[in-house]
Amino acid sequence: TSIGPLNTVARTPETHPLTWRLRDDAQPVWLDEYQRKDGYAAARKALKDMAEADIVHEVKESGLKGRGGAGFPTGVKWSLMPADESIKTRYLLCNADEMEPNTWKDRLLMEQLPHLLIEGMLISARALKAYRGYIFLRGEYVDAAANLNRAIEEAKAAGLLGKNILGSGFDFELFVHTGAGRYICGEETALINSLEGRRANPRAKPPFPAAVGVWGKPTCVNNVESLCNVPAIIGNGVKWYHSLAREGSGDHGTKLMGFSGKVKNPGIWELPFGITAQELFEDYAGGMRDGYQLKCWQPGGAGTGFLLPEHLSASMHSAGIGKVGTRMGTGLALAVDHTVNMVSLLRNMEEFFARESCGWCTPCRDGLPWSVKMLRALERGQGSAEDIETLLGLVNFLGPGRTFCAHAPGAVEPLGSAIKYFRAEFEAGVAPGSAPRGAAVQIAG
Ligand code: NAD
Repeated sequence: TSIGPLNTVARTPETHPLTWRLRDDAQPVWLDEYQRKDGYAAARKALKDMAEADIVHEVKESGLKGRGGAGFPTGVKWSLMPADESIKTRYLLCNADEMEPNTWKDRLLMEQLPHLLIEGMLISARALKAYRGYIFLRGEYVDAAANLNRAIEEAKAAGLLGKNILGSGFDFELFVHTGAGRYICGEETALINSLEGRRANPRAKPPFPAAVGVWGKPTCVNNVESLCNVPAIIGNGVKWYHSLAREGSGDHGTKLMGFSGKVKNPGIWELPFGITAQELFEDYAGGMRDGYQLKCWQPGGAGTGFLLPEHLSASMHSAGIGKVGTRMGTGLALAVDHTVNMVSLLRNMEEFFARESCGWCTPCRDGLPWSVKMLRALERGQGSAEDIETLLGLVNFLGPGRTFCAHAPGAVEPLGSAIKYFRAEFEAGVAPGSAPRGAAVQIAG
């Protein structure tokens, strides 16, 4: 199934650098049309008129930050690739394992604008001196796989991939590799293990992939949407890019943002950083459907914290959402309506996170199923008097810096905020006169 057109105001190259080429009928933009719409002009500029270091410099100056959810500066990541010219084997990996619940922005880009990603990867590979690229794609994205593969064939036939691209002397091969549908494969080092044919456990960092990546070689891993920003930055320049976001947002460019849940008009829109969540919710998503009230919301995926309706005044950028206590994540928000019981919602979420744990480190492997066990009991009204404190203990014990990767910290962020704002719903699940649950302690041991 494909995704409908973006229901937004008129899109122009100046205001909507990622989505202005989308067709209104939601069909893919193939090479002819992409080139008629100025496609590959930025690649021509990068390959013919710019040195590698100049491309890295432009992206660094643009302030582009990773769009996968963590927001690490892309140009800084690029500069960490080794300067040693004798290292000839370097890889560019596109992280297209989009599996964050509520998040389907990369899917939209890959299904409908496959050449934008290819052009972004071509320019980036040139900057990074990578001779080979892989798009590590979520296995369930079958339309995206078909469209990317067809677009890669078109690009090869047109001399935009392969040997001596556009007569520049630069060679770049690009492959689509489909994953087997595990959330953890989106963690960049688990992704590298999976690509190598190993079990998808995260690796210890450092070393970061720039030093030791796929098959031990320097590797840069960037998200789909991040790479899709590169042609516009190279084509239109840093000054223009800095004019896109609302002043004072601290993030640059536009972002694919969205709202799902019981809103009138669920969807994705390309919007400037710094728009308020209220605008996103009211003006684009249309507010709640008749008969539903907004109880709380998450700004950017299941791994971000819950916020209250009053927090809709926050600006949609890293610092704006940080100020109200969580992370912007993927920028695809979820509206939770008044009919939803938070214990049931969290039980459902933690079942997902527990199932998707790779099992490599103990806090995550044992802690997440333990949280599910307590949430199931609370949901049935059979919770123990100490369950809520134990859950809060887990929020702390599985938090940032305590586990091998960001999976468990992401899993407990919504749990901690749900208990903070809706504690009474959790307390309602404690069985009257319940005894402390000694068994829970044994599971931990
Ligand atoms: P992270 O903060 O550990 O790393 C982000 C990126 O920055 C990585 O590429 C990492 O290598 C790099 N980095 C961080 N510190 C560095 C350093 N000191 N030196 C060099 N490079 C450094 O986060 P992560 O584990 O990559 O990602 C977690 C995020 O992923 C969460 O915020 C979550 O929102 C998001 N997420 C997204 C999806 C999705 O489908 N898009 C799915 C799951 C999670």
